[in-house]
Amino acid sequence: MLVSAFDFLAALGTLMQMKAPPSAPDSTGHFGRFGGMFVPETLMAPLNELSDEYERARGDGEFQRELDGLLSDYCGRPTPLYHAERWSKLMGGAKVYLKREDLLHTGAHKINNAIGQALLARRLGKRRIIAETGAGQHGVATATVCARFGLDCTVYMGKVDMERQAPNVRRMELLGARVVPVTAGQATLKEAVSEAMRDWTASVETTHYIIGSALGSHPFPMMVRDFHKVIGVEAREQVLRQEGRLPSLLVACVGGGSNAIGLFHPFLEDSDVRMVGVEAGGDGITPKRHAARFQGGKLGVLQGTKTWLLADDDGQIDLTHSVSAGLDYAAVGPEHAFLQELGRVEYTYATDSAALTAFQQLSQIEGIIPALESAHAVAYVAEVAPKLPTEDIIIVNLSGRGDKDMDQACRLLQE
Ligand SMILES: *Cc1c(COP(=O)(O)O)cnc(C)c1O
Repeated sequence: MLVSAFDFLAALGTLMQMKAPPSAPDSTGHFGRFGGMFVPETLMAPLNELSDEYERARGDGEFQRELDGLLSDYCGRPTPLYHAERWSKLMGGAKVYLKREDLLHTGAHKINNAIGQALLARRLGKRRIIAETGAGQHGVATATVCARFGLDCTVYMGKVDMERQAPNVRRMELLGARVVPVTAGQATLKEAVSEAMRDWTASVETTHYIIGSALGSHPFPMMVRDFHKVIGVEAREQVLRQEGRLPSLLVACVGGGSNAIGLFHPFLEDSDVRMVGVEAGGDGITPKRHAARFQGGKLGVLQGTKTWLLADDDGQIDLTHSVSAGLDYAAVGPEHAFLQELGRVEYTYATDSAALTAFQQLSQIEGIIPALESAHAVAYVAEVAPKLPTEDIIIVNLSGRGDKDMDQACRLLQE
């Protein structure tokens, strides 16, 4: 009798553990069958050193206090949780809140991670920073924190992206960074990441590589997630204070997945909270015309991690397309692959044209111009909120502001 009660409790414990996804990957960075450390041998020792130092920093109250101080006084945290009253009323369904990461210093969530990693680089005694950038937002965030800490900064950027995002190139240069054009392949983000990895392999003694999303080899997906968890921790406290209850739905756009995992993670064990990640649907789901990895992607390895990615039958990485450069990448962060497999988070997509409509609608009804990336999440909310009861609460992550997208969006909206 006693034994069977014990067995029952043990079984229940296992079941509950299965229900609540583990908050950390295993020691080599696997989230289930995803993630890991697919890197050249020369990077294994430095990545293990980085993992160890990160563990020490995580348990160090002084590190956490310095980080919290910078997040508040330098970056502008906490960001508001704003009730979009006019937009909610227009849609006539659920009550919608915006988590205002667009109000952060440099205009997007990316600085949460850049500042955390800069502090870590200083602990490691590394005075040189490298980064990759697509649209330039992560490059600007990295150049900013390097200026703040007096670190030497080199940013790799595809030549095509440098032409498309010239204002961000000028910002990085003004901040004191060196921007290196990458001309290989499509000359966009994927090639910039490869170039940054090549630099790091040769310079790892003196250099820290600040990856811009929850991607790459362990420990990056976990570390980047942890630096962005502040988004969800704040949102949870704010909605409990403002509404006295948890939301029914969280929505965020998913490029590599850092803003989404930052919002979602602190709610993972709240089983009544649904979560939806919105990928870039581009022109629609036909090969090479989108970046929605959960729509017909394949399991494979890209740039250090095993995850869902867009590739042809020979395993060659496909071209991708999205109106928003920040979502235009062939692989998704490994923890999202895991959460999708567990059925804990659902993934859908918004097309370019739906995102552009949402970009215009939120601007006109709330006076808030979202980044085109964030507009993908806004587009999904515009689709579902009218069908949900008015008691439901939705929180959508407004990952960034749309100033950087003005030229492109206005040109496309005119066409
Ligand atoms: C870079 C970026 C994204 C996409 O990156 P994630 O890692 O998926 O968050 C989304 N929104 C904005 C504003 C960005 O700059």
